[in-house]
Amino acid sequence: MHQPTTEPRRSIYYDYKVHQPWLAAHHGTQPRHQVVIAGGGPVGMTAALELARHGVPCVLLESELQVSEGSRAIVFTRRSMEILQQVGVADRITQQGLPWRFGNSFYRGQRVFRMEAPHDDNDRFWPMINLQQQYLEEFLVDACQANALIDLRWGNRVTGLVQHEGHAVVEVDTPEGTYSLETDWLVAADGARSGIRTLLDLKLEGASYEGKFVIADIRIDLPLPTERLAFFDPQWNPRNTVLMHREPLNIWRVDYQLPEGETPEQALEPASLQARINAQLELIGHGGKAWEMDWCSVYSARTLTLPDYRDGRTLFIGDAAHLLPIFGVRGANTGFQDAQGLAWRLGLICSGQAPESLLASYSQERVGAAREIIDEAGKSTRFMTPPSRGFRLLRDAVLSLSLTEAFVRPLYHWRTSRPHEYSQSALNSAGDDNALFKSGPAHGAPPANVRLGADDFLLDHLGGGFDLLVFGATLPADVQAVVKAWQTQGLKLRVLLIEGERNSPSRAGERSDMCLPDTDGRVRTRWGVTTDGAAYLLRPDQHVCARWMTLDAHRLNAALKQATSGVAQ
Ligand SMILES: Cc1cc2nc3c(=O)[nH]c(=O)nc-3n(C[C@H](O)[C@H](O)[C@H](O)COP(=O)(O)OP(=O)(O)OC[C@H]3O[C@@H](n4cnc5c(N)ncnc54)[C@H](O)[C@@H]3O)c2cc1C
Repeated sequence: MHQPTTEPRRSIYYDYKVHQPWLAAHHGTQPRHQVVIAGGGPVGMTAALELARHGVPCVLLESELQVSEGSRAIVFTRRSMEILQQVGVADRITQQGLPWRFGNSFYRGQRVFRMEAPHDDNDRFWPMINLQQQYLEEFLVDACQANALIDLRWGNRVTGLVQHEGHAVVEVDTPEGTYSLETDWLVAADGARSGIRTLLDLKLEGASYEGKFVIADIRIDLPLPTERLAFFDPQWNPRNTVLMHREPLNIWRVDYQLPEGETPEQALEPASLQARINAQLELIGHGGKAWEMDWCSVYSARTLTLPDYRDGRTLFIGDAAHLLPIFGVRGANTGFQDAQGLAWRLGLICSGQAPESLLASYSQERVGAAREIIDEAGKSTRFMTPPSRGFRLLRDAVLSLSLTEAFVRPLYHWRTSRPHEYSQSALNSAGDDNALFKSGPAHGAPPANVRLGADDFLLDHLGGGFDLLVFGATLPADVQAVVKAWQTQGLKLRVLLIEGERNSPSRAGERSDMCLPDTDGRVRTRWGVTTDGAAYLLRPDQHVCARWMTLDAHRLNAALKQATSGVAQ
């Protein structure tokens, strides 16, 4: 019988709430569900909220009775915030989180590289925002519990799975015994050690790195800005790397690499932690300052992915699907994009508007994203923790050259997590004018945000269904007829007219669902639009699937068919 701990987890700054377990005996016969999600971590909860936005109810099974132990993922990217805005938790993160955009790399006491993440007036969110994972999960829990379409079951652990032709049967263990659940689809969001992966005998592909890091969260009052700090080969930890990040509430993350051969048990001994953290504080000029330990753990980088995120009726997202190095903030940030990419497709399939084969494009896009990240992250991981003598020689040469030669300094820049562009997606329209545009978001790209007013941005108005952005022209009658036909079939498709000046509501109502002002032409410029009548078609996850210099009814219809089937028309 599954007995999750009922003791609140220990923390010096976060009060863990222990939720009541969901017990089958109190709830009668279980009907067959459209979607069951195993795992109520950040990615599983985001998937549940996204599904609800597409009108799909789900059962969300969470093994534990409380949110994540320790801060774990602490850096959330702009694209993650745009996704979390869609599911309604971005405001709470913004209120509590610490935004930043600079990173500093130090070698032998000298700053050798300063990373500056681009940020302009058109972005609602900062490139990065720091917040402990427990808070993010708490906000997602609140949103899930407030949503009538989400049945969040604490203390429910998936222990068995049998897949059939059109459905799966999931065995769930609870503090009062087991029960079975039938579901059309099972979403496996059960994290890095995914039991569902094991039940299905699926193997991750890729590499695991030897280098180990201690991850420690300490409370200390340091008068330093929120910027990432990286120290290469510091005197107290020769040949190794140390990272520091500020978190809200005077908590600092200190990650330091361990000398070769040291075991996690040795590394986590209190005396060792004390000495090393004191040495790091000394290095940054704050030696002797009082601090308290909140949480610590040992981590080693892995670059692994399943080769396919669908197995029968089971779909993988988040750490259950891939394990990515935390350098470059890739763990949770990549998972949000999985959740968003899967949910709209399941939404269309569950409402009978798309064939199951649409899911092939989910796996194609997201496995492609994971492989690209693995490629990039592999480079940064090899720089941080050289896996062989050759890599170490090369890394050390860069380090010493960087003291005098500016040209090598950009090699310090490990690329941080970024939204993947699905440029090769099977959903990108085969017959549009993508190639004719000289700029703007291309096939498969996420949208470019644009400020429309003091607290009004283009992306605030997009998503949740297909969006057709039409620039500065009225919709021809035959285009309107195509839009109407798809809407009548039940597809969520909105027309947004991007105009030079705001229309009166009555005029807008005649031709489009919404008119957005573009008085100074910012939207046109950022979206590479040069002529009236140009248009973009965005998928429900806001990625571009078609764009035209001149929109016509036939090509719009073909693009919608392709985006909802994965088959080129
Ligand atoms: C020590 C540590 C430090 C990290 N630091 C960082 C960092 O600095 N930056 C970063 O970006 N990422 C970091 N990560 C990674 C980040 O935490 C994960 O990428 C992120 O949590 C993935 O979210 P997820 O929802 O896919 O999985 P998880 O957060 O692991 O959630 C999985 C959920 O499924 C539940 N579950 C498991 N098995 C079952 C089951 N059989 N039935 C039902 N429920 C189940 C678990 O209880 C859990 O709540 C760190 C991870 C660890 C472990």
